[in-house]
Amino acid sequence: MFDVAIIGAGAAGMMCAAVAGQRGLSVVLIDHASRLAEKIRISGGGRCNFTNLGTGPANFLSENPHFCRSALAGYTPQDFLALLREHRIGWHEKHRGQLFCDDSSEDIIGMLRRECERAHVAWRMPCQVRDIGRDGAHWLLATDGAPVRAARLVVATGGMAIPQLGASDFGLKTARQFGLKVIEPRPALVPLTFDAQQWQPFAELSGVALEVHLSTGQGKTRGQFLEDLLFTHRGLSGPAILQISSYWKPGEAIAIDLAPGRDLAAELLAAKSGSRQQLQTVLAGLWPRRLADAWLAQGEGGGLAQARLADVPDRKLRELAARIHAWPLTPTGTAGYKKAEVMRGGVDTRGLDQKSMQARNVPGLYFIGETVDVTGWLGGYNFQWAWASAVACARAL
Ligand SMILES: Cc1cc2nc3c(=O)[nH]c(=O)nc-3n(C[C@H](O)[C@H](O)[C@H](O)COP(=O)(O)OP(=O)(O)OC[C@H]3O[C@@H](n4cnc5c(N)ncnc54)[C@H](O)[C@@H]3O)c2cc1C
Repeated sequence: MFDVAIIGAGAAGMMCAAVAGQRGLSVVLIDHASRLAEKIRISGGGRCNFTNLGTGPANFLSENPHFCRSALAGYTPQDFLALLREHRIGWHEKHRGQLFCDDSSEDIIGMLRRECERAHVAWRMPCQVRDIGRDGAHWLLATDGAPVRAARLVVATGGMAIPQLGASDFGLKTARQFGLKVIEPRPALVPLTFDAQQWQPFAELSGVALEVHLSTGQGKTRGQFLEDLLFTHRGLSGPAILQISSYWKPGEAIAIDLAPGRDLAAELLAAKSGSRQQLQTVLAGLWPRRLADAWLAQGEGGGLAQARLADVPDRKLRELAARIHAWPLTPTGTAGYKKAEVMRGGVDTRGLDQKSMQARNVPGLYFIGETVDVTGWLGGYNFQWAWASAVACARAL
């Protein structure tokens, strides 16, 4: 018999267990995996991008964009840094507020484990939860070991990305079991794929990288980013594509500005007068040479590859510039949960209380972390949501 049972000993589950336990509650953490917190371990290339200094509600996707506000304000990146200082864990800023461990993501796992030990958290791991039921005022969990009885139940089983590491839809099933709505889950922060034939002219650009501006969607669901793009054999990847993938809907196009922040039409027209240069050479000053060659050779440039700039009509130059500033591409799909960093969608936040993460219509049932319909951008935001939602819940238990 415990005050609190938490299912899922990942980022959110461990944080919640530690804070609740340190408030004097008896807590049991249950996880079906045999290795602790695999997603933290592999995150950030093994150094865990554990937060982002610029975290705010605008960095998250949700059907209910204001939901995350209260939890994020209640536990900030600075609060997490204070915890790292206590545990003497070194960190550095890599890029645009993204903070990484100096040594290894194991430092974060070790820190959370020690915080749980301080809180006298009980562990059941590996342990499968077979059934969730009620026994009077208590939750009764049937497991493949001894049953667990608890006054409050927190579901922290994460999203479905990387099923090979034990990710499951347990959180979504549990939400449905108790009458909560679920926003359709989809892979996010994931490479996008293209029709092989459509992509063939660009396949040989594999390895080319450049900074671009991407956009997709309309109105409130529009996403746009200035990030690095990477050409691969099968399509596009790199931070730019991972970011936009969270906003992309099947069938929709994405527009890629291959010369962000410039007025290419004006530049080409100004360079035109008396120029003996070929268009190819001019574009090669802008991009990696291979990209300029492929772009102009494969029809995207309208057969202008060998043309001298001076001979190209102004109208054609303007059309070319417009296409370079908004290259329309329609992906055929995503690389799926096997390659995704997160799941978007999840437990509908309209059924949860934003201060405690408690289900509005099911007293004593809480959902935290990635299983909830709050999905962060690439860059440490997803862990910050895991920490913040966990702490909000733990303080309210
Ligand atoms: C390759 C990769 C790299 C990433 N890098 C970053 C990064 O650098 N920065 C960042 O902010 N985010 C990153 N993320 C995302 C981040 O890892 C997650 O958003 C975060 O771990 C979510 O925390 P969580 O506690 O909700 O879920 P998780 O950390 O996934 O924990 C869920 C736990 O529940 C357990 N579980 C699942 N199903 C069951 C079940 N049926 N029964 C019992 N237990 C169950 C799992 O074993 C797991 O231990 C990355 C993700 C991936 C896949």
